[in-house]
Amino acid sequence: MQGLAGRVALVTGAGRGIGRAICLGYGAAGAKVAVSARSTDELASVVQDIRAAGGTAEAFPADLSDPAAPASLLESVAATLGTVEVLVNNAGVGSSSDPKPLVEFDDEFWKLTLEVNLNAPYRLTKLALPPMIAAGWGRVITVASINSRMGSLHGAAYAASKHGVLGLMRTAAMETATLGVTVNCICPGPVRTLMNDKRIEYDADRLGRALEEHESGLTPIGGRLEPDDIAPMAVYLASDAGRMITGQAYNICGGISMA
Ligand code: NAP
Repeated sequence: MQGLAGRVALVTGAGRGIGRAICLGYGAAGAKVAVSARSTDELASVVQDIRAAGGTAEAFPADLSDPAAPASLLESVAATLGTVEVLVNNAGVGSSSDPKPLVEFDDEFWKLTLEVNLNAPYRLTKLALPPMIAAGWGRVITVASINSRMGSLHGAAYAASKHGVLGLMRTAAMETATLGVTVNCICPGPVRTLMNDKRIEYDADRLGRALEEHESGLTPIGGRLEPDDIAPMAVYLASDAGRMITGQAYNICGGISMA
């Protein structure tokens, strides 16, 4: 597979979990990696690890619940590393932060989830696409979810945002297919991250199961995925090898969905 030598890649939600693994993969493939999230200590750690492995990375703190953040983030990256050629929409608010049945759902949590999981990818993608189209080369990769295809019990905002972002990305793919830009989603199942730790604790408690027993039965293959199970797909989709793939949504879910 060809690498990403010299490509400028912006990864949101990059400080830990899946985003961190994608950043390390991009750094190893030769990209200049713009590492973004709110937690500056986590960003510094990712940047340090990429540089220690011989790669190039810079931290760009941003809070994507602020509607003004996408524009200033893209401008900062362009001024420091160059125009973004690979955009990874990965930052997310999980269903686990405030799980409730729909009839009890917190309206502020609904707004926050939609802002970070759907509106921020909309704004970032809308702003990142014109220079990609002008250059005749670009990649947009969105970390959606298996909950882009199925509901999330007590996670209405999460499932709605993840279904929405899949539709958004499929539309962007249709509009850019002839222009050298590909747009795809990755749909993970349960991955061992801070977000999912909280979710499986909630579900195990709700079901009255021991945590280990609950975790072992989460996927047909068995147990949870690791962030490193997701990152190679993000590297592949960003590479020239992925040039004929657009409008797709790849489940990496341990066999939860076989559709
Ligand atoms: P995680 O370890 O909790 O990471 C979430 C990342 O998003 C963090 O870097 C966090 O950084 C960032 N983030 C959250 N709110 C933000 C905001 N307002 N502004 C900017 N950044 C923000 O969770 P993860 O599991 O790796 O999640 C990454 C993506 O994978 C999400 O889109 C999630 O929905 C998706 N996903 C995860 C799973 C799973 O089982 N883990 C399954 C399917 C899909 P700060 O808090 O420092 O801002």
